[in-house]
Amino acid sequence: MNKRNIYDLTIEDWSTWLKENGEPTYRAKQIFDWLYVKRISSIDEMTNLSKELRNKLDQSFEFQVLRIIDQHISSDGTIKFLFQLLDGHAIETVIMRHGYGNSVCVSTQVGCRMGCTFCASTIGGVARNLTAGEIVAQVLESQKILDKENDRVSSVVVMGSGEPFDNYDETIKFIRIINDEKGLNIGQRHISLSTSGIVPKIFEFADLKWQVVLAISLHAPNDELRSKIMPINKKYSLSELMDACRYYVNTTNRRVTFEYSLMGNVNDQDVHAEELARLIKDIKCHVNLIPVNYVSERDFVRTSKKQIYNFKSILERHNINVTIRREQGGDIEAACGQLRAKHINNEFKL
Ligand code: SF4
Repeated sequence: MNKRNIYDLTIEDWSTWLKENGEPTYRAKQIFDWLYVKRISSIDEMTNLSKELRNKLDQSFEFQVLRIIDQHISSDGTIKFLFQLLDGHAIETVIMRHGYGNSVCVSTQVGCRMGCTFCASTIGGVARNLTAGEIVAQVLESQKILDKENDRVSSVVVMGSGEPFDNYDETIKFIRIINDEKGLNIGQRHISLSTSGIVPKIFEFADLKWQVVLAISLHAPNDELRSKIMPINKKYSLSELMDACRYYVNTTNRRVTFEYSLMGNVNDQDVHAEELARLIKDIKCHVNLIPVNYVSERDFVRTSKKQIYNFKSILERHNINVTIRREQGGDIEAACGQLRAKHINNEFKL
């Protein structure tokens, strides 16, 4: 019998499983507590469960679902992991240090099929979706690392490899599990999710009325340019995407974040800033400017510091909230997909 990933279950799923296995449902809370609060390293440590139940768990569930195969620590404290999944695929997870705490950036797919031209994650396409438990395990393993420093994961960003809305159901289940107050208890306002713009899923996500931070990878102020660098735009135009954003803001009463990577001579000129301001002026939002990371397989140059601040001030003149993302882990290839791409190249000499 194939074992299930033990982190794939919400607390309600645990109640169902326990019932089906002739066990009292209150054990669900105890199992959650062992996994996510006490963060044990083997099922045998669940000492308030009967030996019989522990045996059943052992026979039915896989406990060690991620194995660290590479790890880089940056001079700014950023830690990037390359994890191996049970089927041998590799995924990336990053722990980032901020003044306000530690955030963990998780992957939702092995690779990505969205084809954004500035992104290393999509080189080679998508191999498969991750299960909710494989995404949960990335947060849990990061928490176990931070436990050694008596520290905690204070926020989670769903911005690693993969398009989360291309793996919608597992991503939603993942958020339910890490948000559960009987487990890791990561508040919705401390979870950010970034999508390249799968419009129907933005509507569906808005209807959940969660307080999660929704970020849109925008990166261009007009359809012509956006379709060139983000193929998803050929399916869902900017006007459809902006409608979905307005719906999200109206339904959740939250602002959206627009992620805008500045790529030298591609989308970083004054005219682009003006066009961007016109596009988003009536949407409650915040713009996060990201000086693009160099990707050796891609051909972009960095925008000069002067132009980054120029771009920012044009948006501000239009009363738009803007921040510039601080680069983290630049010395360890921390940008999305870079470490995995390197791993694949080394393994398969592509
Ligand atoms: S930016 Fe995001 S959606 Fe686009 S290819 Fe990379 S991982 Fe996929």
